[in-house]
Parts: sequence; C-alpha cells; structure tokens
Amino acid sequence: MPTCFCGCGRTIPFYMFGLRTYNTRGKQVAARIAWAREFGETPPDAETQRWLEEGDEIVDVIARMVHREADPRTVNEGAIREWQAEGRAAEQNPEQEQSRRQARFGRAIRTSGRSDEEIAQALAHGDRSVQEIMEAIERGEDDPFGFGGKPPSLPGPDS
Ligand SMILES: [Zn+2]
Repeated sequence: MPTCFCGCGRTIPFYMFGLRTYNTRGKQVAARIAWAREFGETPPDAETQRWLEEGDEIVDVIARMVHREADPRTVNEGAIREWQAEGRAAEQNPEQEQSRRQARFGRAIRTSGRSDEEIAQALAHGDRSVQEIMEAIERGEDDPFGFGGKPPSLPGPDS
C-alpha cells in the first residue's frame, strides 16, 4: 500500500485515487524544495526564500489532505500550479537541470532495491524507454522502471 509522502508512515488505501494523486503532487513539491535547498545559492535571495517558504506551506497543506485532516475543496490549486511554474523557471539553467535529473535517476535506482543487472535489463529490454523512465521518476512514480510488482530476481550462479 502506498504511504504518505511526508514520511509519517500513514498508508493510503488503493481505492482512494484522489488522495494518491495529491500524494504524488506532495512528493513532487517536496522534491523540488529539497533540490532547491541543496543546489541553490546559500543563503537564498529574498525571492527564492519567499518561494521556499511558500513551498513549505504547500507541502503542509497537501500533507493535511493526505492525512484526511483538510478538505481538498479548500485548497487553492491555482496557487500550487503557479508555485510549480516558478520552480520550473528557476530550473532553466540546463547544466543544473541535467545534474538534477542524473541525481534523481541515481536515487531512483538506489531506492528501487534492484540489482544493477536488473536495472540494465529494464533499460535495455523493458516496456519503457529511458526517456519514459526519466519522466516517471520526475512524476514521482513508485515503480518508474516498470517492474510491475515482479519480485527481484534471485542472485545468479556467478554472484
Ligand atoms: Zn503524512
């Protein structure tokens, strides 16, 4: 069962599609903030600081919804979209964007718990192209490599 993006350990029933969508959004916003704090200037300029604080508030609001403590109808969707657009604009530096994607790709491989061999096979023979996998990682999907719940393969005779 998927768990809340905030790390509190609450589970989200599979039939609650709305909550799962918000959970994915929360994951994206939190990842964007983490990236900005990691790779941005320190200390951030006033504009960035305002954007980061707004992002923290958005994460709070989304977490409250996933926890079913807040009514999704009270959430200002437009403000969240605007915030994400501002973040994208700030990430336009192609070199930074490239290293950010590589870092996320590496993290997704580590969190998948798969062997290098399995990842290599998924990249070479899987249902998804590398581009599709990158996009799935950007969206914060639980299974970006498309293993589809297949258990990890047993170690081969040579390992
Ligand atoms: Zn939570």
